[in-house]
Amino acid sequence: MKKKVLVTGGSGFLGTHLCQRLLLKGYKVICIDNFYTGSKENVSTLLDNPNFDLIHHDVCVPIDFEVDEIYNLACPASPVHYQNNPVQTVKTSVHGAINMLDLAKKRGAKIFQASTSEVYGDPTCHPQKETYFGNVNPVGIRSCYDESKRCAETLFFDYHRQYKVPIKVARIFNTYGPFMHPNDGRVVSNFIVQALRGEDITVYGDGLQTRSFCYVDDLIDGFILLMNSNDQILGPINLGNPTEFTILELANLVIQYTNTQSKIVYKKLPLDDPKQRKPDITQAKKLLRWDPKISLKDGLIQTIEYFKNLAPPEQSTTTIK
Ligand code: NAD
Ligand code: UDP
Repeated sequence: MKKKVLVTGGSGFLGTHLCQRLLLKGYKVICIDNFYTGSKENVSTLLDNPNFDLIHHDVCVPIDFEVDEIYNLACPASPVHYQNNPVQTVKTSVHGAINMLDLAKKRGAKIFQASTSEVYGDPTCHPQKETYFGNVNPVGIRSCYDESKRCAETLFFDYHRQYKVPIKVARIFNTYGPFMHPNDGRVVSNFIVQALRGEDITVYGDGLQTRSFCYVDDLIDGFILLMNSNDQILGPINLGNPTEFTILELANLVIQYTNTQSKIVYKKLPLDDPKQRKPDITQAKKLLRWDPKISLKDGLIQTIEYFKNLAPPEQSTTTIK
């Protein structure tokens, strides 16, 4: 019998890559998505695969079927999208986690949570280790995402302690690559789409804030290694590329690799925007033997090729007002 694997948020950016990879591994993959930021188009090439099922469903509503493993990815990840309907973001993270944990409990499935570096907030500890409890504003515009992801982690550990549900919790740091939506609003897709359209490149603040960018293929390797790791390894475990860049450096690399005439313009920094972010991945290296391989240069070049081959988006990128 093929292993049955559920991917929630499976038609979003990371979900699409994960579904593809799981099918290549010979599993039966069930993707559920409400298409809030994902699209059927992303998984269109998988629809003819007899091992792939796509279900239009909101994780806030309980669901029940036989399943062996669950990857819980459903949740908008881009600040502009998760702030667009913050109450829905909290419901998706919290009710979604409860519904998926209940499904795992009922069906004896192992469950993976796509948590985030945002649980560290605007970190005062650098690089961020899993033992750091974070510096999170509970009432700000990013809180709907940060705090609901923190609550989801709590639920995962309580279902494990109380009901013995096998859990795996990954804290994902900024990841980029093909299948990001052109209007996703996150920095890498924004800069590439702006550069390819010859539009201004919108740097928020002075651009000296840092992020550490992981190419999606490396991240998906980490997901699979964590899901298949021994039962003692629950996480939370950081998954990200530890090479740190300022946003201004990123903008200049995109300008260089796209050979664009676009100019950098500065817009105001959104509230609570973390000033620095870089994962400490000692745990992932030691426990999973995982170490990202793809440099920002190689990853950007592949992502730029993807966006070049996409039909040009009708509207420009989604940026802050
Ligand atoms: P994405 O926005 O591209 O994908 C999220 C998917 O979830 C979309 O397909 C969306 O339609 C779906 N979704 C949203 N609400 C839903 C609901 N109520 N019911 C069913 N489906 C719903 O984002 P992504 O980058 O692919 O992120 C996937 C997961 O990884 C998210 O949980 C995110 O928090 C986490 N994560 C991603 C990153 C990153 O850099 N990409 C970093 C940290 C954490
Ligand atoms: N950013 C930017 N221009 C953009 C989009 C984002 O300068 O068009 C900045 C944003 O302020 C943040 C960083 O890039 O400092 C990463 O933003 P993103 O939305 O990708 O993810 P975050 O890590 O903030 O969740």
